[in-house]
Amino acid sequence: MEAKQFGLGDIVQMKKPHPCGTNQWKIIRMGMDIRIKCVGCDHSVLIPRQKFEKRLKKVLVFAQRQEE
Ligand SMILES: [Zn+2]
Repeated sequence: MEAKQFGLGDIVQMKKPHPCGTNQWKIIRMGMDIRIKCVGCDHSVLIPRQKFEKRLKKVLVFAQRQEE
């Protein structure tokens, strides 16, 4: 079982907030790299999954998704 659960569409909080002052990010792409978008200013960044997991503080909102 994974230590941290997160998925596409979730709103997450990172250890460091974005310079715009917002610390809410939406996961918009999952893969080897994860793309997150700042909820405050719509700026998006691509982060290697390992780095993302290290920087992730917590998941604020779990998106609705189907179990497969
Ligand atoms: Zn921002």
